[in-house]
Amino acid sequence: MEELHEIASAHIKGGPEELQEASEEFFDALDTDGDGEIDYEEFMSFMEEGGGYPRDLCEALFDQLDEEEDGTLDFDKISTLFYILKSGRPFCDACDNFIPGVYFTCVTCFQRPGQSFDVCLRCYKRRRWEHYHRDGVCFVDCFAMLHGMRESMLMANEPEMSNEMVLYKAPKNRRNSSTQPSSSKKLVSKGTMRKMKSALSALETAATIGSIGTTATALCTIM
Ligand SMILES: [Zn+2]
Ligand SMILES: [Zn+2]
Repeated sequence: MEELHEIASAHIKGGPEELQEASEEFFDALDTDGDGEIDYEEFMSFMEEGGGYPRDLCEALFDQLDEEEDGTLDFDKISTLFYILKSGRPFCDACDNFIPGVYFTCVTCFQRPGQSFDVCLRCYKRRRWEHYHRDGVCFVDCFAMLHGMRESMLMANEPEMSNEMVLYKAPKNRRNSSTQPSSSKKLVSKGTMRKMKSALSALETAATIGSIGTTATALCTIM
């Protein structure tokens, strides 16, 4: 959880002001009695009744967030919850616990609309999962999946990418020549920025991207 708190806090402090406001609004929405803390009942009524999450998952998540075991969650803990829900962090499909870090995911399910099938490191290591597909089951860890997605996106964009490379070779050469001052050079072109942004939004909808198929499946052979 410590790392998740750090990530959530980095997002909120380093990100746009709207994000800070959104997480404050989220806290206020949960804090129905307005005492500045979220207790177990407030948490459950939001998660279980409002969010439709299964009761045992919610209970386990509350315990994981409530590290001091005082039965309440402060603003930082709720910011972590906000991050968990926003970023789609998974629960383990074998032990039902929330997975705070790296996990393994089924490549086949990852590429299909609907639920992915994710397993925490401990359950994966102990083979505690039961999961079948007609053509066999392949798991990769989430970093390998990210790498695979990048490779396929680059492959899909290849012709366009090579045009762009030519476009911003020119300013680079000028910068290196002695007659040109070394300021005022854009390192990232607008087109590249657009690509980065679309890559990010592609990540958010990763489960519905069909084009990652080949590379993601190929990943199974390297591990
Ligand atoms: Zn597990
Ligand atoms: Zn699967």
